[in-house]
Amino acid sequence: MLTDFLLLVILVLALATGWWLGRREKYRRTPPPGATPELSRDYFVGLNYLLNEQPDEAIDTFVRALEVNSDTIETHIALGNLFRSRGESDRAVRVHQNLFARPSLTKEQSARVQLELARDFMSAGLLDRAERLLLELTENNSETGQNSQVLLVDLYEREKEWQKAIHTLSSSLLKDHPRLQKAAAHYACELASELLAKNQFAAARKQLKQAQAFDAACIRATLLMAQLELQSGSAKSAIRLLLRIPNQDANYLPAILQTLVDAHLLLDQPEELAKNLEKLLVEHSYTSILLHLAQTLRSLGRHQEALEKVSHYMRHQVSLKGVDYLIDLYMDQASGEERAHLVTLRTLTRQLLEHKPEHQCTSCGFQSVQLYWQCPKCREWGSIKPIIGVEGE
Ligand SMILES: [Zn+2]
Repeated sequence: MLTDFLLLVILVLALATGWWLGRREKYRRTPPPGATPELSRDYFVGLNYLLNEQPDEAIDTFVRALEVNSDTIETHIALGNLFRSRGESDRAVRVHQNLFARPSLTKEQSARVQLELARDFMSAGLLDRAERLLLELTENNSETGQNSQVLLVDLYEREKEWQKAIHTLSSSLLKDHPRLQKAAAHYACELASELLAKNQFAAARKQLKQAQAFDAACIRATLLMAQLELQSGSAKSAIRLLLRIPNQDANYLPAILQTLVDAHLLLDQPEELAKNLEKLLVEHSYTSILLHLAQTLRSLGRHQEALEKVSHYMRHQVSLKGVDYLIDLYMDQASGEERAHLVTLRTLTRQLLEHKPEHQCTSCGFQSVQLYWQCPKCREWGSIKPIIGVEGE
């Protein structure tokens, strides 16, 4: 209600300013002797709505009454943007379309309004209409042209049209927007993932090389390259690539572990796997590494060693996942009443772990169980990292 009131105040002021400027111009041109200038009928109709506590009708009437001239173009653009930011896309479209239809706009003003109209359509979910407007604007060499390219990339990203998004990215756009370099690497990774799912290794490799060219620090490209190597039978190359990732960004260590295990199992090298996990654990005390190590030791029949290791780490850096696994290890050795107690205890830890988020977006705080490469809430790429602490790693 307060924002409605503020919007109305802005509109009334804008309208009064427009009216005053218009009146001043009119006087300059032909000073009417003794005549009293009049406010438009819409102004009074709007006021009437306002007094009758009908803010929606009042807003529409004031918008109609706000004359379009060179002094009020910015007000009209801002007004439409204000509606859009309030989630009233249909009103924003009406204001901007009304403005766009004016033949008096300069070429640059017209382009700016077209860009805002495209934003309105995107906000309303009318992506086809937004795309048509933006494609016309991308030819424009001005700042508006570049802004429309950025928006078009965003649109293709929403539609998961990765190839089109990459195609829209010119080298100057990438140079001016480092955030897009990171995003572009992920677009190429998305394409590579689709190709990998169809076992099209050569095409997937090409996309991954492109991802690395966009962003040399793209962890996802390295991880996918390792998965490609593994899928095409080069487990050794996969391991080499995976072991590079902790040096690039240790946050993604939990994400590489399953592929690392799979690669060693393909080579039938569980001892080597245990050694590599041990080395990683010394440098990065993540619970996920500890649990994979304990699992490997168990599979090698080194049960006591696994138990001692987990128990040692839990004393120094306790985590719910670690305690749950420790109970599991104790259960292997227990029987009778003791085992029954442990089962009860493990039921409790499993309940606590159920649906517990393991990842968090460093940009907006969104939490999730699985790792997303793009945050579903703020849409930032590569911002979701594992949660560290008792309830996480
Ligand atoms: Zn986020």
